[in-house]
Amino acid sequence: MTGDAPAVENILEVHDVRRVFGGVVALAGISLAVPKGKVVGLIGPNGSGKTTLVNVISGMLRPTSGTVQLKGKTISGLPTHRIAKMGLSRTFQVVRPFTNMSVLENVAIGAMFGGADGGHSAAAAMQVARTVLDRVGLASRADAPAEELTVMGRKRLELARALASGPDVLLLDEVLAGLRSSELEEAISLVRSVSESGVTILIIEHVLRVIVSLCDQVVVINRGQKIAEGVPDVVMRNQAVIDAYLGHRASTRHNGPTFA
Ligand code: ADP
Ligand code: MG
Repeated sequence: MTGDAPAVENILEVHDVRRVFGGVVALAGISLAVPKGKVVGLIGPNGSGKTTLVNVISGMLRPTSGTVQLKGKTISGLPTHRIAKMGLSRTFQVVRPFTNMSVLENVAIGAMFGGADGGHSAAAAMQVARTVLDRVGLASRADAPAEELTVMGRKRLELARALASGPDVLLLDEVLAGLRSSELEEAISLVRSVSESGVTILIIEHVLRVIVSLCDQVVVINRGQKIAEGVPDVVMRNQAVIDAYLGHRASTRHNGPTFA
């Protein structure tokens, strides 16, 4: 970056988003900004509202109030396919590939459904899928049935599926959960390579080592509210974060939120 580089642009902005389910306030007015090209971590105890926020951002849920903007345009209230076309893609915490289809076909579906450079014909979608599988290190398994993949293989597939629509912004909801510690480094490099290819990432992850090594910034939420944000090293030493999140694991003194 040279001295006259433009000011950092926020590719994604969440403004005072509330989401209520019956009597449960899942999000109590969350605001956050994701600068273009960065990796931002979203952490918090189980039940703190992380997946709900991803669901609101990706259009699967409407916010009760508040707005979400992608590249300066309001997307809250739009259907998921419109939001995907505008360049936002997400992974799911519970990965459910079509097990009776090949790895390649699973990814091709993502390319056919469209996104910024999606909406391909079947043949073109297969081509896009091959390229994406190569990018996530699954090319050699392209023709295998998806059900034969290992846990790590399924993570790669989920990432490939999300990348097939050519997103500018990728929301990763605990995509690395369930990996062995020996696989984590590989998974971290994979996410880093996606980031380096120019995709902006908002990542939810429980393993704090992953957050510290990948993220430029981290946002911590607890009970639907933001309690801290900043660079990982500083945030992880914040007392409110330790009490609400980190400390909860080490000790049962706190009557904090429950961990599953
Ligand atoms: P996290 O991903 O941080 O573990 P969630 O966003 O899944 O948290 O959940 C936040 C809160 O909202 C929890 O109390 C959860 O039970 C509630 N919740 C999430 N989704 C729904 C839903 N579809 N209906 C009712 N309550 C929900
Ligand atoms: Mg969740």
